[in-house]
Amino acid sequence: MIEVAEEITRRGFLAAGAVGAALVGVGGFGAVTGQADQAFVRPPGTTSNVKLVAACNRCDRCLQACPYGIITPAPLSESIVAYGTPTLAFANGFCDFCMKCVDACPTGALSYGGEAERDLGVAVVVKDACVAWDWAGCTVCKDECPVEGAITLDDHDRPVVHPDFCDGCGKCEQVCPSASLRAYDASVAEKGIVVVSRASEAAQLLGAVMSAELEAGRTAPAAQPVAPHSKGIHPDGPDNTRSAEGKGALHENA
Ligand code: SF4
Ligand code: SF4
Ligand code: SF4
Repeated sequence: MIEVAEEITRRGFLAAGAVGAALVGVGGFGAVTGQADQAFVRPPGTTSNVKLVAACNRCDRCLQACPYGIITPAPLSESIVAYGTPTLAFANGFCDFCMKCVDACPTGALSYGGEAERDLGVAVVVKDACVAWDWAGCTVCKDECPVEGAITLDDHDRPVVHPDFCDGCGKCEQVCPSASLRAYDASVAEKGIVVVSRASEAAQLLGAVMSAELEAGRTAPAAQPVAPHSKGIHPDGPDNTRSAEGKGALHENA
């Protein structure tokens, strides 16, 4: 807590304080940050979502620094406490761990170090949206995944995600063509594979969910998070010797 407090800027402190005060009437800080902790896929350098929410001053510098435009502020409709803090959306791009968002962060809300420095979440296959689960022929996510071993094919040539390798970069979600290959069905997810928080219930289903399960589980807290990847090696991004002055050491498994 001391470390967090040291990182909070005056602006961030005031923002957090105002939010905290507002929460007195809606169940308390811990309860709502706990919900936010499970709900969002965060940029690299997020030590914990609770810490991020406390230290982020909502300056949007990470959003502006990301060359692919995949960082988006958490909407008020999804969380009072996390409102305005950075989340990731992979519809139009994926993360190559360039770490420009971490370099741009002035408060240490995004910082180097920690076991999840380059672990954004984990991809899950959406069974009723993935074309390969209905008929054979699509292996786009496996073919495009930059991390060797993160996606393999089962005996029916359907994608299987391996959480120990997947770093949640989102490339599979970006390139998945299921929406354009399917007739419109509002009850089915737009993508056949989606990155979720490792602390969500959807991640507990170990790689294959239905659209309804995805919808319910991606924002629901799990009793025990899925552990960060420990074997995956992302070919892009900075090497292990790179660091930012004053922002700590890089994680060995990055
Ligand atoms: S590491 Fe680079 S690509 Fe990934 S979210 Fe940060 S700025 Fe964007
Ligand atoms: S790219 Fe999408 S539709 Fe194709 S196999 Fe992967 S998840 Fe299924
Ligand atoms: S999120 Fe990235 S590492 Fe994980 S399966 Fe998808 S493309 Fe591969």
